[in-house]
Amino acid sequence: MSLTITKDHVSGILTKDAAPAAVCRGGDTVIFETRDCYDDAVVSEERPLGDKENAIENPATGSLYVEGAEPGDVLKVEILKIRLREWGVMRSSTVCGVFREDFTERTARIFPIRNSSDAGGDAAGQYIQFDDKLTISLVPMIGVVGTAPAGDGITTDTPASHGGNMDCHKIGEGSVLYLPVNVAGGLLSMGDLHALMGDGEVLICGLEIGGEVTVRVSVVKGRQAGILPTPFLSCGGRVMTIQSAKTLDEAGDMAAKAMKEFVKAAAGKDNFEAGMLMSLLSDMVVCQVVDPLKTVRVEFPLNVLETYGYRLP
Ligand code: CA
Ligand code: CA
Repeated sequence: MSLTITKDHVSGILTKDAAPAAVCRGGDTVIFETRDCYDDAVVSEERPLGDKENAIENPATGSLYVEGAEPGDVLKVEILKIRLREWGVMRSSTVCGVFREDFTERTARIFPIRNSSDAGGDAAGQYIQFDDKLTISLVPMIGVVGTAPAGDGITTDTPASHGGNMDCHKIGEGSVLYLPVNVAGGLLSMGDLHALMGDGEVLICGLEIGGEVTVRVSVVKGRQAGILPTPFLSCGGRVMTIQSAKTLDEAGDMAAKAMKEFVKAAAGKDNFEAGMLMSLLSDMVVCQVVDPLKTVRVEFPLNVLETYGYRLP
């Protein structure tokens, strides 16, 4: 049986101090219904500021309390399915984003989500008509996904070690995200779906959209948990560290160092060998440059670790 957390249960802050919306056991499948990052308030190109007073920025649905999850464990979140609403929205900003000086007011564009005839409602096969010349295929992803931090709550516009607004477009269907358990139950929340987003997210947004995400959650314990450098992602045969900091330089160093420590522990390598393997085989990629902290991921091939006997939990 699967559990659904409706989009009535949203917050603009990931915190241990709010009662969870639902409780599940390790191994359960849970559906998160999500609002878009504008709190579903921007519904018309004529009203780019939106129709809602007190709209929540980046509302995240949750939280989910996972029984048996204790501080020091890792929450394994398998992203089984992302279903999108029938339209997405993008909006310019005068204060954030690489191109903010181009704009004196906010402009919104609504894109209907179209289905190729054989899509059957699957995201694979969905696209937008950008204009009369260009169609663009969609690759849905989750912008905000995280657990509750141990200390003060963290707003859902900020990425950090608990996850949050990482805007890593690899966090999509079929990927497996590993997040830290900082407080009992982990308290998982997610929102800010993008139907599509390029690395960098340079304007300020992806194709922002509501929808629902089906995940299977389980708890990783012991040494297996101890060596996972969370937030950590497995996707397409590669594992990825995802780190956020004030500058891309810092975030890149953090993501590379976290991966190096993981390669050492998983493959039994010393600093020099792990460093050589990373210099040969890892890729450092910008996730986003427009949130309060910038996010970089470092990708490494999983089969290299498996050559040395490592198995992902
Ligand atoms: Ca975001
Ligand atoms: Ca977004």
